[in-house]
Amino acid sequence: MRLKSEHFEPTDAALHARLSAINVAAYSKSRNHLNGQVTRLSPYITHGLVTIPELFERLPKLKLSDKLAFEFGWREFFHHVWSREGERILSDMRPGLPGVRYADELPDDIREGRTGIATIDQAVHQLYATGYLHNHARMWVASYVVHLRKVHWRTGADWMVAHLLDGDLASNHLSWQWVAATFSSKPYLFNAENVARYATADWHCPGSAIDTSYEALERIARSNEMIDSPGSLVGTVEPETFAAPPELSSTSIPKAERIRLVHPWMLADRRFEGQRIGVIHLPFHARFPWSARRWQFVTDRMMAITDALFIGDLNELKDMLSETPNVESVATLNPGYDDLLPQLCTQLMDAPRQFANPSKTCRSFSAFWSQCTEAHPQRGWHR
Ligand SMILES: Cc1cc2nc3c(=O)[nH]c(=O)nc-3n(C[C@H](O)[C@H](O)[C@H](O)COP(=O)(O)OP(=O)(O)OC[C@H]3O[C@@H](n4cnc5c(N)ncnc54)[C@H](O)[C@@H]3O)c2cc1C
Repeated sequence: MRLKSEHFEPTDAALHARLSAINVAAYSKSRNHLNGQVTRLSPYITHGLVTIPELFERLPKLKLSDKLAFEFGWREFFHHVWSREGERILSDMRPGLPGVRYADELPDDIREGRTGIATIDQAVHQLYATGYLHNHARMWVASYVVHLRKVHWRTGADWMVAHLLDGDLASNHLSWQWVAATFSSKPYLFNAENVARYATADWHCPGSAIDTSYEALERIARSNEMIDSPGSLVGTVEPETFAAPPELSSTSIPKAERIRLVHPWMLADRRFEGQRIGVIHLPFHARFPWSARRWQFVTDRMMAITDALFIGDLNELKDMLSETPNVESVATLNPGYDDLLPQLCTQLMDAPRQFANPSKTCRSFSAFWSQCTEAHPQRGWHR
């Protein structure tokens, strides 16, 4: 199968093509560059087509000292924090920069990718066109939105997560907080020189307000000053987001001895002797709507691997499943699903993890990483 770098098919063939293309050494050297050899696995990981432990099995030579292992660790760190803090991850984890006020609306020039700063406009256009952004581009956008335009990180995080194919409340909202300094000790800042080092020329922004020193940016971040947006005539339209899968409804729920409930974060095609029901809990999606592209990725896959679909409030499934002796699923931390799956299932498996999940919240990645690696010095990870 040929790989188109930013086209994501929700199929095992597409996943395997991406896995086969991984080059651990090249990843370490180039991951910070927008055209570096990153894996683009995130939509598949977020939606459970592949798990982090399966990736370690698939890459038996991957060492803890490899950059890729470290990045898988970041994902599990964010999920560790989510598992311990629950919905507190959606609010400031610690006080932000003192005295700085933030708006709770995203300005239209950012939303429409017409700030006049190429770095930001390219990222917004790419986000809408593909549902994917390189890590560096996500950091640049978040830093610009929060520190230079004074928009609250939560507003930016909710906007970005709605358009990402890999949108994940822990990785996304905690990364925005890390940039904002509500989950780190200092604001993340970038300048035009940094963009020039890691991106191709069409992303560069010489002569813009970002073409300045880190000292100047730090002064802006820690004050109520904002930078001017020169604006640009060429913008884009923000794609609509939806609180339910467009043009799809529930099918009839079969009677069976054994049922597996397949939610959007466990879309691996596992063998199962029984009926598989895809479930979409609408109250969650009313809070966190998704782009049509994201819905298509999830529902195409869900329909390919299940026998029936339930789209509604999971509370309504309780009666329908009351006579089914065996109902199983995999736990997820996504709000609403997290409460209701345990009530519906006779067997709820833990979401697979590679690294340990310390009982007390680690407030920093380094604390998490040293606990995981010290606990298992040979391999450094939890089996
Ligand atoms: C503001 C912001 C928002 C983000 N939102 C999300 C999100 O909603 N969902 C999401 O999965 N990641 C998010 N990330 C983390 C990271 O940017 C993406 O995981 C990564 O860019 C996905 O591309 P990739 O699969 O090619 O990554 P690769 O670099 O190839 O990494 C492989 C895998 O490791 C994990 N990973 C890599 N870097 C990170 C990181 N910094 N934090 C956590 N996990 C990481 C991901 O699972 C990724 O798929 C965000 C980062 C920032 C700065």
